[in-house]
Amino acid sequence: PEQSAYRGMRPCRTMILVNPHSGRGQALQLFTGHIQAMLTEADVPYTLVITEHQNHARELVRNADLSQWDALVIMSGDGLLFEVINGLMEREDWQQAIKTPLGILPGGSGNALAASLHHYSQSPPAWNEELLLSCGFMLCKGLVGPLDLVSVHLASGQRFFSFLSLAWGFVADVDIESEKYRHVGAIRFLMGTLVRLASLRVYQGRLAYLPAKEEPKPQTENQRGSLNNHSLLPGLDQPVPDNWTVVNEEDFVLVLAIYQSHLAEDLWTVPGATADDGLIHLFYVTAGISRPALLRLFLAMEKGSHLACGCPHLAYEKVRAVRLEPTSQQGMITVDGEVVEYGPIQAQIHPGMANLIRG
Ligand code: ADP
Ligand code: MG
Repeated sequence: PEQSAYRGMRPCRTMILVNPHSGRGQALQLFTGHIQAMLTEADVPYTLVITEHQNHARELVRNADLSQWDALVIMSGDGLLFEVINGLMEREDWQQAIKTPLGILPGGSGNALAASLHHYSQSPPAWNEELLLSCGFMLCKGLVGPLDLVSVHLASGQRFFSFLSLAWGFVADVDIESEKYRHVGAIRFLMGTLVRLASLRVYQGRLAYLPAKEEPKPQTENQRGSLNNHSLLPGLDQPVPDNWTVVNEEDFVLVLAIYQSHLAEDLWTVPGATADDGLIHLFYVTAGISRPALLRLFLAMEKGSHLACGCPHLAYEKVRAVRLEPTSQQGMITVDGEVVEYGPIQAQIHPGMANLIRG
């Protein structure tokens, strides 16, 4: 964190977007009960916007007069921030727009970024209201630091931006299938995991990546945020360049590309990750893993000790770009917990492209 989000003096304002249906449907009550007084006390002027439908926030920030706002904050799960980031990137002035400080208050059932930010602040683990309070304090302090984004490209030509994860197989299935348990809150992922274990399946596809060590030169300040100057991706119809690694395995239980420390409040997936390490942390689990071994990995993740399990089916690589070409007819791919079109997909990191209010 380097600068403050609040320029002081003149009407500096924060737009707080609340999804009233996120999590257990209590985001608004959580805001008024825990955060409102804190912001007033800290003299942070804000305007509350309650989203009325999916993509409401996306449309709103796409058309907003950003000179009126010092920060855009979401009180929801990760899905609403996904909308806001993509709304900003769809603007003609995206290069400035994406620099608007963003903030997150956990109000959903999937609060991975909030859990990650709390973790980066080196505070002991916190859940639920305690996590919310921690994020509320960060918002009051208003310290801003860079956040890596990942551009995601589909075979249809569609492109969007992601701040958290790209998942295929087990993790994507659990994320989407567990939405029906949304009313139980963050525990939905554990419930979904147990249900999915019972019907464990294998997915066929090809996986390739650009190892982080293949691109040693750090991005200079003026390359940051520039998309065209720094593309690492060939067209999806082209073979991957020869400095990429092609995984010698086509049967997977899961592929997970993640760029924050936490996949959920109690899933510490990447020990050592930071908001702007310029890395995609690529995990995959190959076919042949037993159900108990897979369960052990997820249980160990609560303490971030899954990599120490010595599981021969788990692989972990630090990469800058990744390509996945599923060949199984059916399956699910999620980006930041949202379902995207199923098919070939590739992604690359853009170091420090956005700004985030964090501790
Ligand atoms: P959760 O963590 O509980 O899933 P999210 O913030 O991810 O919470 O929101 C879930 C989904 O709801 C996202 O796809 C988001 O785009 C969508 N959404 C946002 N606002 C609304 C709304 N007012 N009504 C319905 N869906 C919404
Ligand atoms: Mg969500």
